[in-house]
Amino acid sequence: MARSVTVRSALVGALVILSSAAASAHAATILVEAEGFADHGGWTLDTQFIGEMGSPYLLAHGLGRPVADATTTITVPEAGTYRVFVRTKDWVARWQAPGTPGRFQVVVAGKPLGQTFGTSGATWDWQPGGTVALPAGEVSLALRDLTGFDGRCDGIVFTTGEAPPNEVAALPGWRRRTLGLPAEPETRGPYDLVVIGGGYSGMGSALAAARMGLKVALVQNRPVLGGNGSSEVRVWAMGLIRRGKYPRVGEIVEEFCDHATKSPGTYEEFEDAKKERIVRAEPNIDLFLDTHAFAVERVGDRIESVTCLDTRTNRESRFTGRFFCDATGHAVIGHLAGAETVMEEKGRMGMSNMWAWAERDTPQSFPETPWALPLTMDDFPYPRDHHGQWFWESGFDKDPLGDAEGIRDWNLRAVFGAFNAMKNGDGAADHATAVLTWVAAIGGPRESRRILGDVVLTQDDIVDKREFPDGCVPSTWSIDLHYPKEEYARKFPDNPFISIAEHDRRVDRSYGYPVPYRCFYSKDVENLFMAGRCISVTHEALGTVRVMKTCGMMGEVVGKAASVAVKRATTPRGVYETYWADMEELLQLPGKARRATLADPIEIPADALPLAVPHGPPTGLDPAKLAAERRAVVRDDREAVLEGAWHEGSGLRGYVGYGYHYAGPNTGSKARYALRAPAAGAYDVLVAWQPHENRGSSVPVLVETAAGRSAVRFDMQQPAPLPGGFGSAGRVTLGAGDECVVVISTEDAKGNAHADAVMLVPAGR
Ligand SMILES: Cc1cc2nc3c(=O)[nH]c(=O)nc-3n(C[C@H](O)[C@H](O)[C@H](O)COP(=O)(O)OP(=O)(O)OC[C@H]3O[C@@H](n4cnc5c(N)ncnc54)[C@H](O)[C@@H]3O)c2cc1C
Repeated sequence: MARSVTVRSALVGALVILSSAAASAHAATILVEAEGFADHGGWTLDTQFIGEMGSPYLLAHGLGRPVADATTTITVPEAGTYRVFVRTKDWVARWQAPGTPGRFQVVVAGKPLGQTFGTSGATWDWQPGGTVALPAGEVSLALRDLTGFDGRCDGIVFTTGEAPPNEVAALPGWRRRTLGLPAEPETRGPYDLVVIGGGYSGMGSALAAARMGLKVALVQNRPVLGGNGSSEVRVWAMGLIRRGKYPRVGEIVEEFCDHATKSPGTYEEFEDAKKERIVRAEPNIDLFLDTHAFAVERVGDRIESVTCLDTRTNRESRFTGRFFCDATGHAVIGHLAGAETVMEEKGRMGMSNMWAWAERDTPQSFPETPWALPLTMDDFPYPRDHHGQWFWESGFDKDPLGDAEGIRDWNLRAVFGAFNAMKNGDGAADHATAVLTWVAAIGGPRESRRILGDVVLTQDDIVDKREFPDGCVPSTWSIDLHYPKEEYARKFPDNPFISIAEHDRRVDRSYGYPVPYRCFYSKDVENLFMAGRCISVTHEALGTVRVMKTCGMMGEVVGKAASVAVKRATTPRGVYETYWADMEELLQLPGKARRATLADPIEIPADALPLAVPHGPPTGLDPAKLAAERRAVVRDDREAVLEGAWHEGSGLRGYVGYGYHYAGPNTGSKARYALRAPAAGAYDVLVAWQPHENRGSSVPVLVETAAGRSAVRFDMQQPAPLPGGFGSAGRVTLGAGDECVVVISTEDAKGNAHADAVMLVPAGR
């Protein structure tokens, strides 16, 4: 069987000191990785661009105030004069922007080197920093930020030999030799399921699989869980859960999701600690934070292992497993494994670095930012309510995998340029006390590469409500696609930074469109699942499935499917083709159901959530409550028999249940409601509508009982006259159990017929 090993795209660095025999027989080289500093001080560990520039690095993200020094101690093997090299860049040089925002110093034994770094170079390079005399033994080292504006340092080299190589291809070997790294990474496993990516999709997968008795590794390259839903990115989790055909799906998401009141909200609202606690409470999960996957070993059609880098210690681990789940959002694992993937060439949804500001009691200064985008107050939407929301988005036509750092940095230039306009530009008079409180250093990506499964879900499938036998994850968000907002795109047409969302609302918002399971595994790699943004859907379909609670539910399904696959010794495809009945059973179990191993019986703990109703709680007036209050028989439009061309809507507020239906005039459409009298007596027949100018001024309603028929027409452009938004279609006398049929139709309606609820109320109540 052919063994293909993917070439590693990341470099490894560690705080290791040795005499290098490679460069010169007598030369000493000390490589100090920035991420290996003992104390990062105020610097942020940035792991977002390892695939591009080769390493985790430290970022001085101080919002214009220099951050505290990062400090460490090195041991110098022999005294001497060493040449110094620092791997860094001037992060705005690629745009030839005036000024150098990311300046910093390297401080050796308490004394800054003469050279200031972050002042030149558009690409990551080892920049010469002169020479320094080092004594043998312990020497202190610090990174000293001078600006608070995103200076960055990957590593520092002290050498008596050759300069380190700048060619990216030569770096891995050089680093390995210089650091004396072991040739083979440590092996961990075998696991039943290795989940890579700790956002909502990865957490859902790991928790569901572990509770079904699988041994799981959850690998996440950030120090916190949640992905875009963490305190680092601060996107609030949307999408409705616990509904549709399998209303148990979503119960795990319910446990760990945020309840943020804003997006971006506060640090606390994203509850990183809660997420970690829930994962760590599972004995079957080994959680690996700060661990970045960069290579895949594939044997035949299967993944054998995934190799990862500890982004703090730089140790490498090789995770072996039966099944793998790519929950990276970027299809990193699928791509490395050679699975077929797709990505829109241009016109994707972009990446955001959201931000927040506040007002203080006293005047606050903010440094001029000549290197930021030159903005006036007209060039961006006012950050109302003190936050720069989701639509601060760029990179629509840029490379989200090969140049994500450029997209993130452009976002930073936009935010700092906007705040500069508020503080030092034409907005200064109104913002003397304004202060920048938070700007995400970690970008929130929306769209990049996706892995192809046995089904590639499309927009048409969703709006036509195409039924797949394996439809199981209810997608309730509209098809929400983002484009550059024209009025703000004129100044920077190459990379607009403000977006607009266009929504196709023909998605069933309460029951959800059931996304098929076959979108959750690779068609090519037989032990690879995927969940989240990188599942098998088109760009348009991604517009609805991508919200986080929906991604989390995909994870729940994948975790359960992995348990079926292990138990039945089959593939993800085999689960669908042969063991779907097993899956249906598991999908009907509470999220808290568990077994310690596959051999154990499944137990339902006492704190399992109650079964939710398939449509979820009503989003309008609750029909059950209405029935109880009015002692009425209520039929909502979802219970009506609909003939013809009805459309669902929920935009006109005041409806009963989950929304209403409407149909154009003279389309032959009919909504037929059947109501039975609970006791003999006289009843008023009441019909609900929500007025709108495009509704019919003469909508026909027919009332039919055993005793006869009557007809009435309503002017639905006007508000319904009776309390609760009802109009009277007459009074009927019924025996106990007698039926009354109400039909709303479109003939000569003079506008759209509107069908919401109908009720029978005891006469006079
Ligand atoms: C600004 C913005 C606003 C949005 N608005 C909303 C909204 O209001 N509500 C909503 O629900 N959704 C919203 N979305 C969409 C949503 O955030 C994403 O679609 C969703 O996060 C996808 O979840 P995921 O688990 O697939 O990926 P992510 O949340 O991106 O999680 C993936 C995780 O995997 C990690 N990872 C990546 N590569 C590796 C690797 N090689 N090794 C180890 N770990 C790795 C990443 O660091 C990340 O933490 C928004 C997105 C953005 C950016």
